[in-house]
Amino acid sequence: MAIFPARAAGLAADPNSTNAIMTDIPKEKHVFQAEIRQLLDLVVHSLYTDKEIFLRELISNASDAMEKLRHLEATEKAVHDPGLPLEIHLTTDEDGKTLTIADHGVGMTREELVAHLGTIAHSGTKAFLQAAKESGGSPAGLIGQFGVGFYSAFMVAERVEVFTRSWRPDGEELVWTSDGEGGYEVGEAPGQTRGVKVVLHLKEDQLEYAKEYRVKQLVETYSNFVGFPIFLNGKRINEVEALWLKNKADITEEQYKAFYQFAGKAFDDPAYRLHFSADAPITINALVFAPSENPERMGFGKVDGGVALYCKKVLIDADPKGLLPEWLRFMKGVVDSADLPLNISRETMQDSALVRKLNSVISKRIIRMFEKESADDPEKFRGFYRKFERFFKEGVVTDHANRDALAKLLRYESSLTDPGALCGLADYVSRAKEGQEEIYWLGGPNREALDSSPYLEAFRARGLEVLYFMDVVDEYVADSLREFEGKKLVSIRHAGVEMADHEAEGEALDAARTEALCAFLKDELGDKVTTVASGKRLVDSPVIALVPTDAMSPQMRQMMKAMDENFKDEVKVELEINPRHPLVKKLAAASESDPDLAKLVARQVFDNALISAGLLEDARDTITRMNQLMERALG
Ligand code: ADP
Ligand code: MG
Repeated sequence: MAIFPARAAGLAADPNSTNAIMTDIPKEKHVFQAEIRQLLDLVVHSLYTDKEIFLRELISNASDAMEKLRHLEATEKAVHDPGLPLEIHLTTDEDGKTLTIADHGVGMTREELVAHLGTIAHSGTKAFLQAAKESGGSPAGLIGQFGVGFYSAFMVAERVEVFTRSWRPDGEELVWTSDGEGGYEVGEAPGQTRGVKVVLHLKEDQLEYAKEYRVKQLVETYSNFVGFPIFLNGKRINEVEALWLKNKADITEEQYKAFYQFAGKAFDDPAYRLHFSADAPITINALVFAPSENPERMGFGKVDGGVALYCKKVLIDADPKGLLPEWLRFMKGVVDSADLPLNISRETMQDSALVRKLNSVISKRIIRMFEKESADDPEKFRGFYRKFERFFKEGVVTDHANRDALAKLLRYESSLTDPGALCGLADYVSRAKEGQEEIYWLGGPNREALDSSPYLEAFRARGLEVLYFMDVVDEYVADSLREFEGKKLVSIRHAGVEMADHEAEGEALDAARTEALCAFLKDELGDKVTTVASGKRLVDSPVIALVPTDAMSPQMRQMMKAMDENFKDEVKVELEINPRHPLVKKLAAASESDPDLAKLVARQVFDNALISAGLLEDARDTITRMNQLMERALG
């Protein structure tokens, strides 16, 4: 081992001596996992913009590693090289064409080098790849949404070396090297202190990153308030701040945004922010943000929680289970509570009464924040809601403690709103008619279909507002919400909705003939209907099919069918006829003069009602019958 210069354990880069080491030590060769190769290919060949974010990624990794270390120290595990300063050191070398990022964090063992830098474990990186595939391999702009972590180093470097020594007592002193093409090598590198030192051998056209002023500029833009001191060529260049512990008045919008992006590993602007402290029932300093983009909307499945838990500035857990209700997983930021024991483990977290208390206080504050923001700027909230509504709905179904508060955040179009505009349940209630005990809703695929639905006629005629449920989950949400401010949520497709009498226009069939027609129809339709009656529901349509209160909506049926091909659900409907409609009057006459034709028409009218109700399963008979009817109509 004497051939190696006895290098100081210092953090400054010494690329020449590292090269010497590289050539003399036996190295294990590895190939990258296929996904990493794809990713690198994109990173190296297709990403021309935003290259500079690599530095933020590497600094964020250094910071993460030291957060972990600090936690290990606090929980009194024996760590290698205790007492090393938790600092990030950046070193530029214009002549050597390198930039070095070094930390004294947890470091990596041999296995960890392979697992962390050779395979994709990181969901953001997977999401990036997926989106890149879907965008047809042109990921420009995507990096602005995802970031690609460590691999972004290859945007600016033709070769990357990672020197490391793990915190574990039995760790080795190692170096990982790659040119970002097919694979990487892992070899021994004696002389490492605990932590990681990343040496970037810059590409010829990226030499700006070996210049001190340029690197300083980047740190100021992206990483200024990282929770550890950052040194550039030996000089301290950042202020360490736990922003969440500072006074609101002393924080600028830019600082908030930078904090959001750093702490949340985000690239968008925050849409909303909540910064508060409380002493009772538990000490809390929280700074949390709602993002402006919803990654789950792009089909990547559930995101991980983004609110980290600290105790007096020491990170306890970056994604603590139970800190927030599951539906709030889109929020990002930090919750710090001085009351927590540092050694609370991931496993016991969810059972901790303290964590439950935090959960209750914070989730209520967040909901109140949304409520206030939506009142202050409804337009902005509408835009936000359109992207994040599924989270709120999930909350109504799953978060019982917050259900009623959350229901106030739900927004819908309705028969009284302009297309595209949204109203809340509270708006609905404030507009409800005197004595109206129910909140009416109707489900359907889109506004056009709902606007022209026969179910709406009676409600429109009486000036009653009907909420439009156009999201497949709305009905499910209404089922679990049941009521709002004492008013039951009721589907207007259902039978048994009570309604005030309404002065209708036009002459109606008399009672005796109406009754005879109802009997004729019931006779003809048999088991398919429970009853046939004349009703109050219709203004312009001849008949309507009302479904039992416990029947599924067409949307729900479709979902069930999609999940189970054998799904069968026989719905018997109530048929309501409109005794003022010309077709109904003519049908009454025909039932006496030409019963055969009347039977054909009866069946057809019934099928039409089923179509409107979204209940017609098989249209073959309908079409045959329609053809017969047309033949007769044409003589
Ligand atoms: P992420 O940071 O989101 O997990 P990265 O691609 O940036 O994804 O990093 C991958 C993994 O490599 C990290 O999760 C970590 O385990 C390891 N790693 C990267 N940089 C360091 C470092 N400076 N110290 C210790 N481990 C690191
Ligand atoms: Mg990272």
